[in-house]
Amino acid sequence: MKILVATEKPFSKKATDGIAAIAREAGYECALLEKYTSVDELKAAVADADALIVRSDKVTADVIAAAPKLKIVVRAGAGYDNLDLAACTARGIVAMNTPGQNSNAVAELALSMMIYMARNQYTPGTGSEISGKRLGIHAYGNVGRIVARYGKALGMEVSAFDPFITDPEVFAKDGVQMVTSAAELYKNSDYLSLHIPATPETKGSIGYELLTSMPQGATLVNTARKEVIDEAGLAQALSERTDLKYITDIKPDTADQLSEKFGKRFFTTPKKMGAETAEANVNAGLAAARQIVGYLKEGITKFQVNK
Ligand code: NAD
Repeated sequence: MKILVATEKPFSKKATDGIAAIAREAGYECALLEKYTSVDELKAAVADADALIVRSDKVTADVIAAAPKLKIVVRAGAGYDNLDLAACTARGIVAMNTPGQNSNAVAELALSMMIYMARNQYTPGTGSEISGKRLGIHAYGNVGRIVARYGKALGMEVSAFDPFITDPEVFAKDGVQMVTSAAELYKNSDYLSLHIPATPETKGSIGYELLTSMPQGATLVNTARKEVIDEAGLAQALSERTDLKYITDIKPDTADQLSEKFGKRFFTTPKKMGAETAEANVNAGLAAARQIVGYLKEGITKFQVNK
């Protein structure tokens, strides 16, 4: 059996060493394809792979067609919108993610982004404090829950909305106010931290109406996905409401225009870095390798996302 680790943006050495060790222990071969620059390179590398580990790499129907032996693909990370699930299912390939393994890294980034904007991107002048402010968490999954905990530790008043969590106890046990609609959440949040996945339902769902309903001086923090934002609506909202701010870890398609028009009210990291910590790298990479071994040896499908 051969596990291919295909990462255009490589894992740390510690992570790839760990993955190789897990493969070796299972009696499998492990190959690395790092910093590749064309889909053809990826297609050539998957030709004899039984299992595939990727990060944000796109596993399209085309890539899957080039991998006749492929049995399992694991996205080392939370969002799996880079995998063509239908193509995997059609071939009987199990697709998985590694939920929770990089959540702390993303949550720390989200909190730091709030402070960065509260302090005018660290330029001289009077900023504000996030303590005492209202923090809204949009989607209460692995990352959202940690952001809630850290927000509370910093003295914020935390509310959350997640359409798939209807048990109030989930929020109550964390001391978080449960909100029953996105509209209510945005209207009452000085800081809104986005943690929704990119799905057909969520794509373009955060736009003019929600943004302009936010309180005076509010900041939207996006460590989720760029696709969930309606960028035209965002630009319109920032134009009309000169008090609003937007900070994101996923560079918008219109980043240059937003930067030029809105100056310090907008910031994007140059490249997605939420999960870019040594710890998250190792956690997600090793979890992916263990899940592959678990599936190939014992048929464990706990984290399968194309059931
Ligand atoms: P998760 O799967 O643990 O949680 C996602 C939550 O979203 C779940 O609670 C689910 O109920 C909720 N949800 C699903 N559809 C929704 C909808 N239509 N509206 C509102 N909520 C909805 O995921 P996570 O680990 O918390 O990560 C959240 C997202 O953050 C991921 O989907 C991924 O896109 C993104 N992410 C980004 C980075 C980064 O590097 N910036 C790293 C990890 C994850």
